[in-house]
Formats: sequence, C-alpha cells, structure tokens
Amino acid sequence: MNAASILSLVRDDLQAFAGYSSARSSALVGDVWLNANESAWANPADVAGGARRYPDPQPAALRERLAALYGCAPEQLLIGRGSDEAIDLLVRALCEPGRDAVVTTPPVFGMYAVCARLQKAPLVEVPLIDRGDALDADIDAVIAAALGGNAKLVFLCSPSNPAGSTIALAEIERVATALQSRALVVVDEAYGEYAEQPSATTLLSRHDNIAVLRTLSKAHALAAARIGSLIADAALIQLLRRCQAPYPVPAPCADLALAGLEPESLAVTGQRIAQVKAERARLQAGLAVLPGVVRVYPSQGNYLLVRFADAQVAFDALLAAGVVVRDQRAAPQLGDALRITIGSPEQNDRVLAALIARRAAA
Ligand SMILES: *Cc1c(COP(=O)(O)O)cnc(C)c1O
Repeated sequence: MNAASILSLVRDDLQAFAGYSSARSSALVGDVWLNANESAWANPADVAGGARRYPDPQPAALRERLAALYGCAPEQLLIGRGSDEAIDLLVRALCEPGRDAVVTTPPVFGMYAVCARLQKAPLVEVPLIDRGDALDADIDAVIAAALGGNAKLVFLCSPSNPAGSTIALAEIERVATALQSRALVVVDEAYGEYAEQPSATTLLSRHDNIAVLRTLSKAHALAAARIGSLIADAALIQLLRRCQAPYPVPAPCADLALAGLEPESLAVTGQRIAQVKAERARLQAGLAVLPGVVRVYPSQGNYLLVRFADAQVAFDALLAAGVVVRDQRAAPQLGDALRITIGSPEQNDRVLAALIARRAAA
C-alpha cells in the first residue's frame, strides 16, 4: 500500500484538515518572541525559567529517543498523553460516527470501547477463546467480523490485559493482510517489555496498515508523566498530529521521560523487568497450589489473571490484609476472576499470605 491508500482510511472530512496552527509551528527567526502571548517574565516558582514558553509540540530529543527504543524512525512516532490519547485520536480520526466500526476482543482493556462510544462508532466484539490454559484472540473471527462489520480499526492487545496472552506476529500479519486498505490493525503493546516475543513494529515495513502502541507507564515506571507512543506509517502520523491538541507534551514530563531513558535509568528498568518476570513465575506457582484457586492463566504481562472458587472471599481476604487487586467479575467470561499486579517480592508474599490465612480461617 502506498501513502495515499493508508490515508484513505482517515475520515473523508479530515483528509485535508490543517488543524490548529500554533505559534510554535511557524518557521520564523528572531530573538524577541512576541507572537504567542506568553509572559516576558518567569514565574517565581519556575527557577530554570523555561516554563513561560509553550513547549515543543513533539519534543525532538524525546521523539528520537523513543524511536530508538521502539525500533522505528522518529517520523513514524507520535508522542501522546499516554497511549490512551493515541487510542482516542485514532478512533476520532478514522471512524465516521454511526458508520465505521471498531473491533475489540473482550475481556480486554476498556479504553477501546470507551473511545468508540464517545465517537459513536459501532463496537464489534469478538470474544477471546478460553482454551483452558489460555485466553486467546480468535483471529479468524476477528478478520470475519472486521470485514463483515465495516471496521476501520481493529485493536489487538498483545500481551492482552487482563488475559495475559500474546498474539504471534504471523497471526497479526494475517489480520493486516486480510484487512489491507480496509482497516488499521492497532497492536497495543503496553506490556511489551514483559513479553518474550518481538514487537509488531518489526512488521511495519511490510504492512502500513499496522500501528503499534507503546507507553512509559508500565515497565518504565512513569505512569504520572503520561508519555505514550503511537508508531505507524509516517504519513498517517503526520495527519494524526494535525488532529491532536497543539501542545500535548508538557515540558516537565518530556524532561522526566528523557531522564528516564538515559542509559543508567534503562539499566535499572531492565533489572526491574527481569525481577517482575521472576516474581510472576513465583507468584503463579504459589497461587496455583492454593485450594481456593481454580486457575492461574500464564501471563506475558506484569499481572496474573486468577479464577477463584469464590472470588468474593478471595477479594475480601486480600482487602482485609490491605492488598487491593482488580476485580474482573463484571467482564465477560471472568465472573470468578481477579487480576493481580506483580508487586515487589514482599508485596507478592503478602498476597500469598492473605490467601493462605483465609484458607486456614475457613
Ligand atoms: C495501561 C494500559 C494502557 C494505557 O497506558 P497509558 O500510556 O498510561 O495511557 C494502554 N493499553 C493497555 C492494554 C493498558 O493496560
């Protein structure tokens, strides 16, 4: 597909949309900047004095660093306020309200459906298949539903939240091929750092209808900085940028993210990821032998999805021990399940102790 056809997935009325022309975006040269109604003086609290100016809409140094981290060109990457903003942006820019559908694979991260609802885009749900030892995406059904339901966007969550399963790159490629020039396949890799398989960014050179979501919120421990990335065809990124807010990346957040991606920070992050994987295996094994536990799904994320004989009893026992986990019982197929984030070794010990104590008391 060439650039023209990937852009044809964007709403007709936005094809030539120029967006807001900010003071920052005009290429002018001078040393007295009186074009953006900023204050000539710094706020007393702003010791470094940089905050009186509007920030770079896409801070170049951060964009380059993120592109290097995720294995793409800077032009293929859009920085947003968390990957949540990128999800919203994609739905708004691609889906004509009441016409173009969004495909999701429940039980799954809720923001895809929320953004579809806000845009009034029809939601087509293709349930995960419970294979007993894994909750997997039903790829044939995803393709059929997307083709039959006039989908513009297909969200594939890999590793899947909360199921923990991944989708093989060959399967993602199969979806992209089947939906070529029909829909954009968005692979949400919010937990990609914890997974064993390579990123779907490795498919971008062959399939321009694939997009990848990454974030600094989970493995990089910077949820409050709100730095997410959308990686996609450069022409699509350029168009989405025009649909985004004029200054989406606050300067203090960009600075924190850059510092968090310095080699020393990355080295620590790498150690934490290894620790989480080891704890994930330990907690999975520890939970699996508890009498009240029906099933612990294998996970490629930093969490475990656990079915209990009585999820309410387990939830209450954990809460009584001061441990708050995610109740999944309202989600389809998960009426007996909790999602437990992998914590520090001490925190994971408390999870196990609370559930064992509960058994002893019962
Ligand atoms: C946490 C999460 C996100 C949101 O990440 P932000 O970058 O913090 O907005 C996106 N997708 C999934 C599957 C998540 O679990």
